[in-house]
Amino acid sequence: MKKYFITAVLLAGVVVFMSFNRGIKTEMNKAIEPKNMDTKVLPGDNFYEYVNGGWIKEHPVPAEYSQYGAFTILYEENQKKLRSLIKKVSAEENAPKGSVAQKIRDFYNSGMDTVSIEKMGIKPIEEELHKISKLQNKKEVVAYMATMQRRGVSPLFYFFADADQRNSSMEIANLYQGGLGLPDVDYYLATDEGSKKLRDAYVKHLTKMFILKGENKDIAAKKAAQVIAFETKLAQVSFTRVEQRNPIKNYNKMSLAALKDTVPGYDWDIFFKTLGLKNPGDINVGQLRFFKGLNKLMEETDMDTWKAYLTWNLMDASANYLSKDFVKQNFDFYGKTLSGQPKMQPRWKRVLGVVSGGLGEALGQLYVEEYFPASSKERMVALVNNLRTAFGQRIEKLDWMTDETKTKALEKLDAITVKIGYPDKWRDYSKLEIVPGSYFDNIIAVREFGFNRKLNKIGKPVDKAEWGMTPQTVNAYYNPSNNEIVFPAAILQPPFFNPEADDAVNYGAIGVVIGHEMTHGFDDQGRQYDKVGNLNDWWTEADAKAFKEKTDKLVALYNNYEVLDSLHVNGKLTLGENIADLGGLNISYQAYQNSLHGKTPAPIDGLTADQRFYMGYAQVWRQSIRPKAMAQRLKTDVHSPGEARVNIPPFNIDAFIKAFNVKEGNKLYIPKDKRAYIW
Ligand SMILES: [Zn+2]
Repeated sequence: MKKYFITAVLLAGVVVFMSFNRGIKTEMNKAIEPKNMDTKVLPGDNFYEYVNGGWIKEHPVPAEYSQYGAFTILYEENQKKLRSLIKKVSAEENAPKGSVAQKIRDFYNSGMDTVSIEKMGIKPIEEELHKISKLQNKKEVVAYMATMQRRGVSPLFYFFADADQRNSSMEIANLYQGGLGLPDVDYYLATDEGSKKLRDAYVKHLTKMFILKGENKDIAAKKAAQVIAFETKLAQVSFTRVEQRNPIKNYNKMSLAALKDTVPGYDWDIFFKTLGLKNPGDINVGQLRFFKGLNKLMEETDMDTWKAYLTWNLMDASANYLSKDFVKQNFDFYGKTLSGQPKMQPRWKRVLGVVSGGLGEALGQLYVEEYFPASSKERMVALVNNLRTAFGQRIEKLDWMTDETKTKALEKLDAITVKIGYPDKWRDYSKLEIVPGSYFDNIIAVREFGFNRKLNKIGKPVDKAEWGMTPQTVNAYYNPSNNEIVFPAAILQPPFFNPEADDAVNYGAIGVVIGHEMTHGFDDQGRQYDKVGNLNDWWTEADAKAFKEKTDKLVALYNNYEVLDSLHVNGKLTLGENIADLGGLNISYQAYQNSLHGKTPAPIDGLTADQRFYMGYAQVWRQSIRPKAMAQRLKTDVHSPGEARVNIPPFNIDAFIKAFNVKEGNKLYIPKDKRAYIW
């Protein structure tokens, strides 16, 4: 759980997902429910199955999901709460025009008005399609791509404002690679049979979309071939996901003049002028190889290909808001084929997701008023303080770090800002106009509002009070450039945070979540940022080397973990998250021990407090998942699958090994010299 470094990755739709349920009393009566376990399995052979086997057997993935687990259940529960809030707001017929109530009501209702949406068909994008068909030359192509950015479509690359990674109090313009319709570079370049099949399916999808637009079969097939050939060229110069994890390699700040020198093939003057940005200031060019690659691409791509590519980008970004033939085709590929999900979610859930994104903090404000008790915030503040103290104690005792670096680490730990529940200052939506009627127009209004917001930030100080997630999101994040940890209201529910559970279980669940986010400040990426959030090396060479040796062990442990047939976890891609899981477990365990003051709590249901701590952790990650969704996640997600999150980190920890009597010969046993002791 973590904020992706750049907004771009979030936009690309890597979704991580979330959790559990206060409503189902039978499940929540006990913090650890014996029937959820599979006691036929030895904890040392498969700890994940031991804790979760019973639950997994009883909870196959529902048709409208590609995966289902603690996170999904909370998410589901949240949607019902949000819908009741929207219904309440919708009943206020006299909500004044321009009020938040009016905006939420009209946005949601416009999305549910399928009669009008069907009647419109492709009409909402016809004017734009026509403009694309009339483009004459590359200058016009560049100008048109800038107008697409304003309307929430990102051909070739993403453009956004973000903190300058070396001067984190200032917002600067950012360019980040993109422009691909498949989830990752690997999908275009891998030569195995499975990947080839997916590419064939993608070409079919492209073809069908062009047919829906009104092309005949042959022309549609030709355009589909143009699009995938073009995107393959983009993929060839793109960074892999592992390369994207290196903050130094992805930081290339330069003036507009330098950008024009580096990427002369792209008309940046026209691009920025059309965006409405007279003086972009210094620009961070995320991936140099990619942007230099645009030179050749701009030169060799013919107008016919440009038109096919831009048409595809427009249709892809619009499909979900058009008539049902578009929605269905979009789902057939991205839902069914790529993730193995048989059924679409009902419309109200999809529309609610869109409203919850577009008017996120407006809805979030209603959400916390209704569902977030002040007592939760107080308890979290106390817990976070305990965790911070425990982390400090552990840093002081590390045997692999010099005092010099320890002092800096402790300063950074002290400086971490904590945000809990919801923002102190809510986002102002007064400039966003939502009208009854056209869903598509409202989508564009939301996108333009969002775009103008980010455009206005460029060159100004970072607003440190802002949140990167809405309160109704079941997740948490660490933001390295603010050195802050953030816990939205929605994650402060069982099984993460259970007011009725014993402390052992809560420390194993929400305690580890807090420790996880804190550890992100000290993972292989986060450690490169200093206490004020600048990329700035504060490590001695020897300490950096010792850290690398330790994390290499963790990389090896995950690389060796087989999830599906022959598919393994990518240890380098998931390293930051894995360091955070291991650190979170160690720090929270220490905090729990501190809270006991030497006492040993009595066992509950025959389970010792230490066992319940690790089981509290393990049940957060229980999950049923479709093989296709798993395969996709292994390639694209920086988080390891739930199973690996449970079956690897604890086996590096002495207290766990003792608690469950893990022995050599157990399947998950890790010999001492292969274990990772980091934070
Ligand atoms: Zn994380």
